[in-house]
Amino acid sequence: MNCNVCGTQLADGAVFCPNCGNAVQANNPQQPQQQPNFQQPNFQQPNFQQPNFQQPNFQQPGFQQPGFQQPGFQQPFQQPDTPTPGKALGIVSMILGILSLVLFCYYYLSIPCAIVSIILSCIGKSQAKKAGKSLGMATAGLVCSIVALAIDIIIIATGAAILAELGVF
Ligand SMILES: [Zn+2]
Repeated sequence: MNCNVCGTQLADGAVFCPNCGNAVQANNPQQPQQQPNFQQPNFQQPNFQQPNFQQPNFQQPGFQQPGFQQPGFQQPFQQPDTPTPGKALGIVSMILGILSLVLFCYYYLSIPCAIVSIILSCIGKSQAKKAGKSLGMATAGLVCSIVALAIDIIIIATGAAILAELGVF
């Protein structure tokens, strides 16, 4: 390159002309190195759409409580058109059974009452059983009679023991 003022040949890289002192730099316009515009590629992030994990709608099965309808326990006594067979016997048996209990002091009355009550109770219960029914009163009469008989036996045994002891004297 040459100096633009005096034309002197200049060495490469010279800043000032050795002849005239001209600043060479002005004559050596820096070519602005255009930096290539490295446009950053627009890495568009792929739009990872989160899959819409819809929770399946677990509908709780409707455990409907089965309607435990209480079966209508119809009282058999509410059927006047079909009277329980042996019912009258059951009533008499119960009355005699209670009598035999009340009259336990008088064993000569209590024991026959109890025996009759047991017999009537057994007849009444068997009649009711044939019809497929139960006779609570006959059962009550039977229980009363058995208890009365047991009490009578104890009393008689006790009395007999007393009599025996008296007989000793
Ligand atoms: Zn020069």
